[in-house]
Amino acid sequence: MKAASLEAGEIDRIESEVGEIMAAVPAKVWDGRSLPVPIDSIAREVYGLKVRQVSHDQMREVVGELAVDGIMSGLLLTGIGEIWVNEWEASQPEWGPQRERFTIGHELGHFAMHQTGRPAIYCRAADAVEPDADGPSAHPVPELEANTFSAAFLMPASLVRPELGPDGVDGDRLKLLMQRFDSSAKAMRRRVETLRLIA
Ligand SMILES: [Zn+2]
Repeated sequence: MKAASLEAGEIDRIESEVGEIMAAVPAKVWDGRSLPVPIDSIAREVYGLKVRQVSHDQMREVVGELAVDGIMSGLLLTGIGEIWVNEWEASQPEWGPQRERFTIGHELGHFAMHQTGRPAIYCRAADAVEPDADGPSAHPVPELEANTFSAAFLMPASLVRPELGPDGVDGDRLKLLMQRFDSSAKAMRRRVETLRLIA
């Protein structure tokens, strides 16, 4: 099943789940307030997942026939407890670190919501958060769920909402929020839209 976006009720459900997970993060890992959210420490300390930067070829080797078209941003390998992120993407000075953070959050979403207990591989295609400019493209529902999880984790509703005016955010405000939450412009803008949608 593919869709351009999730229903508001489904987003609410994921928001609640993320809220519960975040409330249970030990204070020594994250105090629930400091920004940006330390997604890699949470992956390691809470989920026991090691984050590694690897080449796209290494990813391809592992996924074999499951490979998505185009570039892969990340993989979750539940069997060995690792999240792999695309090292080329991660090293891009303009947007790499933010992309890496979102990818880690995406794979954590698969880990929290989709794994079956058997060793499996979950992928993040490069366009998972930033579809073409000519409108939202359709994605398999689990991918949308993982993106929603990542956005809720990296840009927690309780910390973003107080920053929003009645008309959302202007350009300067958006820049400030991007820095504070260490997020890309597209992810931050989408997060603001989502929070207005489910207000
Ligand atoms: Zn995915």
